[in-house]
Amino acid sequence: MSTFQAPKGTYDLLPPRSATFLAVREAISAPLKNSGYGYVETPGFENVELFSRGVGESTDIVSKEMYTLTTKGGDQLALRPEGTASVLRAALQGNLHKLGGLPVKLWYSGSYYRYERAQAGRYRHFSQVGAEAIGAEDPALDAELIILADQAYRSLGLRNFRILLNSLGDKECRPVYREALQAFLRGLDLDEDTVRRAEINPLRVLDDKRESVQKQLVGAPMLRDYLCDACKAYHEEVRALVTAAGVVFEDDEKLVRGLDYYTRTTFEFVHDGLGSQSAVGGGGRYDGLSEMIGGPALPSVGWALGVDRTVLALEAEGVALDIPAATSVFAVALGGAKPVLFGLVTELRRAGVAADISYGGKGLKGAMKDANRSGARFALVAGDRDLEEGVVQLKDMESGEQVPVALADVVDTVRAKLA
Ligand code: ATP
Ligand code: MG
Repeated sequence: MSTFQAPKGTYDLLPPRSATFLAVREAISAPLKNSGYGYVETPGFENVELFSRGVGESTDIVSKEMYTLTTKGGDQLALRPEGTASVLRAALQGNLHKLGGLPVKLWYSGSYYRYERAQAGRYRHFSQVGAEAIGAEDPALDAELIILADQAYRSLGLRNFRILLNSLGDKECRPVYREALQAFLRGLDLDEDTVRRAEINPLRVLDDKRESVQKQLVGAPMLRDYLCDACKAYHEEVRALVTAAGVVFEDDEKLVRGLDYYTRTTFEFVHDGLGSQSAVGGGGRYDGLSEMIGGPALPSVGWALGVDRTVLALEAEGVALDIPAATSVFAVALGGAKPVLFGLVTELRRAGVAADISYGGKGLKGAMKDANRSGARFALVAGDRDLEEGVVQLKDMESGEQVPVALADVVDTVRAKLA
């Protein structure tokens, strides 16, 4: 019988690389935790309706990429393809928007599922850390999120990423632009799919990656020229605040999120070392979403950063994160010393020292190999003779130097040396 393989488009996180994933999640969430964002966790699946309304029927996510299922009880569910709709649903259900001041600021971290054409950087199961600021219209909030994402990437040591920024207008000015764009698109020679998209979601056509389409788009009306005064002023303030923070961005008037309830600020983080899967994160304002899923008007802004692609970006830049060795002290028991050393390891662990011990009744050579492999800074070695003298040997794994330490002093001595 052949062994099982992980399903297509998925992969396992295994040590030691898995430590990098944890560190990336931690680095992305740290600036959020430090800026008033509270942790939210929602189910891995939701009623399919939440996404068809909250992400939009016309999007690839809903029309092509969603994993849907009917339960034995007849419920129509979908594995979550993204975080925003679920987080807003949870905030509304928990009445967070009624409890205190707005905005409600939330962050999340989890797995997402999309039935995609699997390739490097594009998986069917992937991981995001995200942030949502719900219920306030304030350019400082849009700026805050862009600045925090920049801080997160920089704290990881990433340098070759770019921030693309645009405004999509609002319900006053966007419909006028939409009409003008549609009129322009109707005059082009486009394939059937694109013609359909031009009717449902014309802004998405601007995003088409094909050169043949891009060539025809030269001279298309640009949203920038249609923004109303309020949207222009709002966008200028976002730009000014981000600039004042020393965060560099590029104006990209072709950057779109073609849904009716995405409004104003939209941005994407791209990394130049990732080939065609270059987006490491994206986000923007979604002032209409709450109403789309049955809530009150709650203008909001958020982003989601892809953990998998961030790890690939680190690898592309050759950045090795400074991940401390998992084990600081490794115990090697000889003769009948195992119970005593096992007790010391337990004590060390309770004192907060990362400690491990050799298992499986190995001899000195095998156990020292385990100690080496663990990356531990110190080994605790003891045989019956040491214990009779009331000591263990504390070996510095870097210098090779070895000193006897009284059993009662092991924890304090080790802690002092590690400090
Ligand atoms: P793309 O244009 O690459 O399909 P997207 O616009 O669908 O990206 P978002 O929905 O904005 O992506 O998700 C935010 C981030 O999540 C992306 O920038 C990316 O880093 C990550 N992401 C999205 N889909 C995948 C996937 N299938 N595999 C790995 N990471 C993904
Ligand atoms: Mg996608």
